Order: sequence, then C-alpha cells, then structure tokens
Amino acid sequence: MTDVAAASDLLANARRILAFTGAGVSTESGIPDFRGPDGVWTKIDPSEFTYDKYVTNRETRRRSWEMRFGSNALDAKPNPAHQALADLWHGGLLIGCVTQNIDGLHQAAGLPPSAVVEVHGNAHRTRCLDCDDSMPTEALRERVAGGDQDPHCEHCGGILKVTVISFGEMMPQLEMARALDWAGTADAVIAIGSTLSVYPAAHVPLEAAQRGVPYLIVNRGETDHDRVADLKLEGAAGTLLPQLVGALLARSA
Ligand code: NAD
Ligand code: ZN
Repeated sequence: MTDVAAASDLLANARRILAFTGAGVSTESGIPDFRGPDGVWTKIDPSEFTYDKYVTNRETRRRSWEMRFGSNALDAKPNPAHQALADLWHGGLLIGCVTQNIDGLHQAAGLPPSAVVEVHGNAHRTRCLDCDDSMPTEALRERVAGGDQDPHCEHCGGILKVTVISFGEMMPQLEMARALDWAGTADAVIAIGSTLSVYPAAHVPLEAAQRGVPYLIVNRGETDHDRVADLKLEGAAGTLLPQLVGALLARSA
C-alpha cells in the first residue's frame, strides 16, 4: 500500500476534517517559508522585527515596508495544495482551515472566508495603530515607491502596520477561539507544511489529536509533532494533497 493510500484509509470515516497549514503550503507559490532550508530566517534576524521595535523604531518600519514591497509575496497565486483543500471543502469533508499563513492564498483558491481562520493575520490589509482606519496594503505601494519610506495614516498621522501578528504581539483572541472550537469538534486533523513549532498556533492540531481523532501530517522535513501523529506523508504538499484529496473524494462519492 502506498503512503497516500494509507492516509486515505486513516481518514476514511472522517466527515469533519480540520486542516492546519503553515508556510510550507505556499512555497510552491513562490513564497519562502521561515525555517526550511531557504527560509527567511536564514537571511534575516527575527529579533529585528518584534512589535516593540516596529512601533518605536523608524528604521524597522522602513525595512519592513521595503521587504514587503520588495518581495513578490503579495502577487502570489494559489498552488495545487491550496486548490486541493478548497476541493475538500466543496466536497463537504472539511470543516475549515486554520492557517498560520498571512498570504490569503486559501481564500484565493476558493475556500470561503468563513472556512478560513488566520491566526497570524493577513498581509493584504494595513491598519492604523491609532485610529484603526484600514486599507489594502497594495494602496501603499506607490507611496513607498515614491519615497515615503515610513508611511503614516492620512487621517490621524498614526503608525501604519500590516495586519500581521509580529513577535511579541498578542494572538487574535477571536480567531484562536474559533480555531480551538473547530479542534474540539473535528473528527480528523491534517497539518500541512508546518514545523509545528510556533505556539500557541500549534496547539490547534494538538488539541484535536489529544481527543483521539486521527492526526495526519503532510510535510517535507521534521516537525515537532512527528511522534504524536498517526501517520506522516513526507514530501511536497502540492503533489501529495491533490492525491490524498482525490482519494478521499472518490471514496465519499
Ligand atoms: P516554517 O517555516 O516553520 O515551516 C515550514 C515547513 O514546511 C518546513 O518544515 C518546510 O520544510 C516545509 N515545507 C516547505 N515547502 C514545502 C512543501 N512544498 N511541501 C511540504 N512541506 C514543505 O513555517 P510555519 O510552521 O508556518 O511557521 C512559521 C511562521 O511563518 C508562521 O507563524 C507564519 O505566520 C509565518 N510565515 C507565513 C508565510 C506565508 O504566509 N506564506 C511565509 C513565511 C512565514
Ligand atoms: Zn489613523
């Protein structure tokens, strides 16, 4: 039996699958992950980009905007892994997807926003830290390109920040509550493209697994939950997930 067939057997009776995704689900869309071999943390130091530094240090903000618009992440398109999860939802087997990603690609692939919980925020929106006015991040591209290296709010002059959770910033309470709610009612959980090393986010699949429901990991490389999961598929999410979802949907038809 192939690994994918074994995974499809593991999930054979599941009708309320919870997906938990990390940066690895988007590398095939051209967005680098953090801790993989070409990850962002091999090039920059995370301690430079804490919430406190962002709000107190103009240079941190300048570099943040420069990196945001210097990368092509805002233009990335969904890949077959995102598409497979949307197919699983449309096939009625997925209750939702909790993602650590900030790229909006699950929704771009066709998952309705109500089926996605973004526990680390979304880079496509920017908010004023003072008056809470918000705008598409894209709307700032021209200002930054035109030399406004640390753009401020046009209404109140406050600091602008993409709606992404920085290190040292509180997790969004509502999103975490929704994620844990799904974890409490899922009848299986699949973690995809994550080292499962960032907490409290990684509690979400763990919470489901601790209730005794099947836990499948799809990842290239080690994760912190390898010994907790019932089965692991090692390899590219963009190849493995479409195979797995195809098998699950064929079975449930
Ligand atoms: P991570 O970088 O810690 O782990 C990613 C894992 O995915 C690694 O084990 C890597 O080997 C694996 N991987 C890479 N490409 C893969 C592929 N094609 N198929 C299967 N596995 C693959 O990422 P994380 O666990 O999500 O945690 C890092 C934090 O990074 C998150 O909090 C998230 O907010 C943030 N982040 C988000 C994005 C994004 O939105 N796309 C990108 C980088 C980082
Ligand atoms: Zn403002």
